[in-house]
Amino acid sequence: MRRTRTLAGIGIAAVALLALTACNSGTPSSSGAPEDGGEEETSGTPWTVLEDVSIDGSPTFDRISSSGTIKVGVKEDQPGLGYLDPVTGDRTGFDVDIARWMAASLGVDPETIEFTAIASANREQAIVNGDIDYYVGTYSITDKRKEQISFAGPYFLTGQGLLVGADSDIASVDDLSDSTTVCSATGSTPIQNIKENYPDVPTKEYDTYSKCVEDLKNGQVDAVTTDEAILIGYAAQDPEKLKVVGEPFSEERYGIGLAKGDDALAEYFNTQLTDGGDIWQQIFDNNLGASGVKATQPEVDPIG
Ligand code: GLU
Repeated sequence: MRRTRTLAGIGIAAVALLALTACNSGTPSSSGAPEDGGEEETSGTPWTVLEDVSIDGSPTFDRISSSGTIKVGVKEDQPGLGYLDPVTGDRTGFDVDIARWMAASLGVDPETIEFTAIASANREQAIVNGDIDYYVGTYSITDKRKEQISFAGPYFLTGQGLLVGADSDIASVDDLSDSTTVCSATGSTPIQNIKENYPDVPTKEYDTYSKCVEDLKNGQVDAVTTDEAILIGYAAQDPEKLKVVGEPFSEERYGIGLAKGDDALAEYFNTQLTDGGDIWQQIFDNNLGASGVKATQPEVDPIG
């Protein structure tokens, strides 16, 4: 919980995140990756596209290798984490860069990734159906999800928080009541937490958090709840109108979702994450660092 507390500090520097998100919108592609594992180039990415990769016993890797394509699920309306700039078409964010790093570690040029935005409620099914090779998008590792899919990671820790209007009296989860409506995404752990542990609080659901944020700005709901790391990105976009309040009231451990039983791929990603602490740090600094948060990379879980 110590890390999630530290993360709460991001809110204070939400404005800084906006600046960062803006200047990061042109995240360089793998074209700047060092070819010899040497110094990163000026336009460079922290990762290197590896060569001669082989992963025994991974059906996902076999599919990627034989088709020459890679399909990755992400979010695209979560600034700082997974965002698609509607004007430039650039995808940016911590999660998107983790996805690019993992592709590079498989020997695939991240420029060639076919990204698909998949809403919280549809992630397991997309993986089960084989629509994507893996998913990186604020995806909490849970036992329930593990019944259908496998996870590598965690690669990031955060906790559930509340986003409210700048002049709201709601200061923490304890201020929620039967007269405050809280909005969140269908199929997410935060909406489930509210329903189970705060059953008197009216809820509203959408497929995406950005729709909740619109409702909050229009006075249709009193708060938006999801992971603080996500909420901070929204607050940064509109600091005059929005604020993140209270202490985190859950622990969310972000994993890379992949086909159930593809332990070879999960192990491989875990090794990349574990050995790539410097890369992780640069990805964090590039996407979330201006917020001032002192988050550290978590240890990965054992597979199985
Ligand atoms: N991390 C939470 C979850 O996986 C909330 C964020 C999201 O919906 O992506 O459900």
